Amino acid sequence: MTDLLITNARPMGGAAVDILIKDGVITAIGRGLSAENIPVEDGGGRIAIPGLVDAHTHLDKSLLGYPWYVNEVGPRLIDKIDNERKVKREYGLDVHVQSMRQSLQSVGYGTTLIRTHVDIDTDQGLAALEGVTETRRQLAGVVEIEIVAFPQSGLMRRPGTAELLDKAMAMGADLVGGLDPCGMDRDPKAHLDTIFTIAEKYGKGIDIHLHEGGALGTFSMEMTFERIRALSMQGKVAVSHAFCLGDPDWNATQALIDTCAELDVPILTTAPPSREVPSLRRLRSAGVRFGAGIDGFRDTWGPYGNGDMLERAMLLGMKNNLRRDDELLMALDVCTTGGAIAMDRHAHALEVGGRGDVVIVEGESVGEAIVTHQPRKLVVTAGNVVARDGASLRARP
Ligand SMILES: [Zn+2]
Repeated sequence: MTDLLITNARPMGGAAVDILIKDGVITAIGRGLSAENIPVEDGGGRIAIPGLVDAHTHLDKSLLGYPWYVNEVGPRLIDKIDNERKVKREYGLDVHVQSMRQSLQSVGYGTTLIRTHVDIDTDQGLAALEGVTETRRQLAGVVEIEIVAFPQSGLMRRPGTAELLDKAMAMGADLVGGLDPCGMDRDPKAHLDTIFTIAEKYGKGIDIHLHEGGALGTFSMEMTFERIRALSMQGKVAVSHAFCLGDPDWNATQALIDTCAELDVPILTTAPPSREVPSLRRLRSAGVRFGAGIDGFRDTWGPYGNGDMLERAMLLGMKNNLRRDDELLMALDVCTTGGAIAMDRHAHALEVGGRGDVVIVEGESVGEAIVTHQPRKLVVTAGNVVARDGASLRARP
């Protein structure tokens, strides 16, 4: 937690002001601020935005630093999962090193808060969790990392996984993960009951990967809703992807969206061009907390992505047909303050009392900053300067 005065910066593209951060918190925003014995950074009249938030990624999957991975993986989800386990073994991946590489690349792009899913399976046990936990420890004060214990290879179909998830929570994972209760385990009741039981035992939340579309996705959502009601876990269960909310049958999806609002179920999207996705406008107008993430990148799953959440705001805008400048502000909110709120971080905003996470970006307006997503001039986490000119100050391993 540090003090910093940023001068001559334009919050969200508005008039130039100074931003004063004390003990890691924004304490004043205004013209002509001065403070003694506090480091000063000149914003140069550029735009200031809150720290970018990657609310859905996989720090343990990255192959950054390795030669280009030639992807010849089959089309099914299980092909990708089996292939990844095989490659991890062949490469002997050091998850700590890989997660440091991805995290610091993201910091260079202005990300100050990350929610990462970490694979827990009977092949590697808790090794990935240990690696990412060490990265979180080393990068404290640089980027905040929240960990979801994620049964990527299935839960009921791989006996022993539930016990490992329980251990992962005891070791300090923040949330329990889940994955396609019908499509993956073909036993939605057992899958959901298991993860809800573990979450309840540790008093933690849940974040479920739900790729299932149509009626199957609706069924899994409804079974999830039942358990949220029964266990009074309103506000503690998020759904990632939730492709079924993007289905063309608006009458059916509206009922699900309304229930997400009623039970306070945050939705986290990666806005992939290849799938129907939950509509930003519809979710926001229903009052559903909504965040966005990069998902994995430079891994065995696919070749796309680089960690840039400003670019993700552009993809979100393209996917949701956002054209007006005020709509682009909405996309940026999902990738900053709104995404943080979806993660229960309610002080992640560029305002007095907000956490001192500020990113100085190039552009006349926020719209131009999103569309051109030029290298970030300055990245500040809780008052600490952590990146300049597109690169984190801490070297990548
Ligand atoms: Zn994911």
